[in-house]
Parts: sequence; C-alpha cells; structure tokens
Amino acid sequence: MCPSLTRQEVLAEIVVDSQVWKFVQTQIVDWWSEDDHNFPWRAPDEEWRLLVTEVLLQRTRAETVADERNVFFARFNSPASLGDASEEEVAEAIYSLGLAWRAKYLRELGAALAKTDGVVPDSTDEIRELPGVGPYVAGAFQALHRNKHASFVDANVVRLLARFFGFEKDGETRRKRWFLKLVEQLFDHDYEPRTFGYALLDFTREICARKAHCSKCPLREQCTFGQNSMSE
Ligand code: SF4
Repeated sequence: MCPSLTRQEVLAEIVVDSQVWKFVQTQIVDWWSEDDHNFPWRAPDEEWRLLVTEVLLQRTRAETVADERNVFFARFNSPASLGDASEEEVAEAIYSLGLAWRAKYLRELGAALAKTDGVVPDSTDEIRELPGVGPYVAGAFQALHRNKHASFVDANVVRLLARFFGFEKDGETRRKRWFLKLVEQLFDHDYEPRTFGYALLDFTREICARKAHCSKCPLREQCTFGQNSMSE
C-alpha cells in the first residue's frame, strides 16, 4: 500500500478490499489469549461498578487502575455513596490515577446511577448521555460487559490504524467521518464483541504500543509502518 495516498484514497482502497479487514481482525484475535490478560473488571460484577471502572480506565494505564480500583470501591461502595461525596473527596480518591477533572463527572455519574439503583440504561445512546460517559465508554461498556456489537476508539486504536494504513493522524482524526467509516469496518466482524474488544485493547497496548513491537507483530506483512521499518 502506498503511503503517499490521500486519506480519501486510502479509505476508498480499504472499502474495496474487505480481505484486509478480515486479516486484521483474525490476526488480532488469534494473537490474544484470555488467560494472559486478566484484569479484575473483566469478571462479572455489578454494572454500575463496571461503568465507573471504564471511566477510570480512560487515558489511564490499566495496571494503575488495577492497583487503585479496590481502594476506590471500598470508599465508594454504592452509586449513592459516590454521588453523595464531595468533589474534593472523589478527587482525593483518584489522585494517583491522574486526570483529577474526572472527579466532578464521577460524582455526577454516581448520583445519576443512584437514581436507577445502579442499573445502567440499555441503549448505547442513553449510556453516552450519562455524566462523564462519552462515545468511548458507552461503546466499551456495551461490547466488553454486555457482549453487544458496539465500537469504541481510543488513541491506541487511532495509532494502530494510522500505522497500518499509512496515514497521518492528529487530535481530530477520531472525529473525522472518513475515519469513523474505517472504525465501522474494523468492528464489523464475526467474533464475540467481548473477545474482539479485549483482543484489540490488549494488542494496541502491548504490540502496536506507543513503541511499536513490529518484529513480534502478526500484522506486519500487510502493515505500512511495519513494512517500512523492516526495510530500514
Ligand atoms: S507491524 Fe508494527 S506498526 Fe504495524 S500494526 Fe504491527 S506493531 Fe503496529
């Protein structure tokens, strides 16, 4: 694939070649194994705790959240206890996770979930309207915790697609219509949503990470970045 293609040309080429998507999806799922990727929130739990955990995981290392999550839920053991806390208390509880601005939304999310006794709404649209819950958290919650078909894109997925197809990315890429079409195709697969979602998360964290581990990557033979790095 030529790295000098415009974004639109790249998109057009990708739409024609659905085998590329099959390759990407299959290789990522085949690489993944559930046993090697255990995090406490991947086991069944109360829905409100799982949704709050997804908010905590945004832009935060999973290993850090794994260390702090039990302390957080020991302090806030119900949606009401989170909703009734002050913003300062919540900020203190998430201090080690960084992104303290989340305290306001976490408290509001607790208050909203207290009104439904911790029940999370059924539809993705309703979930994304909750405080602190945007498209990413809503999609991740549906796919990973309810095993429903839904897409979710973080910076790691943007990076993977940019490297694989050889296009430039910036802070606005994930909101562009042409990019969202790519995402739609990436998530159009025959796997269990939960399996594909966790495989994608773990693959972009461990293999196509900030520092790409191309020599270990099963996508390398068709990846623009991987091919270029091999020829250097
Ligand atoms: S070959 Fe390298 S850049 Fe391409 S997907 Fe794999 S790790 Fe990422």
